[in-house]
Amino acid sequence: MLLIGSHVSFTSKEQLVGSVKEAISYGANSFMFYTGAPQNTKRCKIDYDLTVEARNLLYENNIELKNIIVHAPYIINLANNKKKENYEFAINFLKEEIKRAEMLGIEKLVLHPGSFVNLDLETGINNVINALNEVIKPNQTVKICLETMAGKGSETCYDIEHIKKIIDGVNYKDKVMVCLDTCHLNDAGYDMASFDLFLDKFDNIIGIDKIGCVHVNDSKNPIASHKDRHENIGYGTIGFESLISIIYNKRLEKVPKILETPYVSSDEKTYPPYKFEIEMIRNKKFNKNLYEDVKNYYKN
Ligand code: ZN
Ligand code: FE
Ligand code: FE
Repeated sequence: MLLIGSHVSFTSKEQLVGSVKEAISYGANSFMFYTGAPQNTKRCKIDYDLTVEARNLLYENNIELKNIIVHAPYIINLANNKKKENYEFAINFLKEEIKRAEMLGIEKLVLHPGSFVNLDLETGINNVINALNEVIKPNQTVKICLETMAGKGSETCYDIEHIKKIIDGVNYKDKVMVCLDTCHLNDAGYDMASFDLFLDKFDNIIGIDKIGCVHVNDSKNPIASHKDRHENIGYGTIGFESLISIIYNKRLEKVPKILETPYVSSDEKTYPPYKFEIEMIRNKKFNKNLYEDVKNYYKN
């Protein structure tokens, strides 16, 4: 069965209940959210009653908890330890984030490994390893999925060899998985038109069973541009056919596919494209009226 969903919101008021409702409105059977704003670390307490209510809603809608993903805020940077207090803050925040995910019953936490900034790549990678070894407990139920990055600025992990190095250095390797992001992979220089060759390579270096999540995004920029600007499905440089063959790749059948494509804007408002993108993915048919369909649907 195709596991498809998108990024959804998680508010302090409705928490997971709101996220599930939003995912259902898109026709999704999987989804991902940040436990607060992606760009900051303000987080609310996880409410037990809302969590129970959300689990009932999931059950009624045949969505499995194991196909729900939490994304750590992207300001968490484990690769730079120049400012000790920031590095310690990131480590402690991640420990708390794992606890929040566990309270919600979620098993996968996607993490941007980090940028080395004013250090060097090797030091950055070692910082990530040391941080993860401080964070990961042998009895935790949450797996940290390291995301493949575009190589923007001083990002680490634009090369899958970096991720391999990190996993090699982590003590509890079974707690670490990988999140592939098609836009980031394209921008990093991997050709998404020959995805099976990429998967063979990934399998040799890391192992396909380590792939815990796929972020399905088209890209605004050409291959190897190191930019990281997501585009709607079929509207970018990767293209609809390549993305469809990635989404339906037999070797990734049990891995949730999550859309992080941009909202559609109209008269100073923006609308989520996910209901219509999921529809075209399910139909395997490109919708050239995506933007109009989205605007018409949400305006009324
Ligand atoms: Zn991400
Ligand atoms: Fe992503
Ligand atoms: Fe991105």
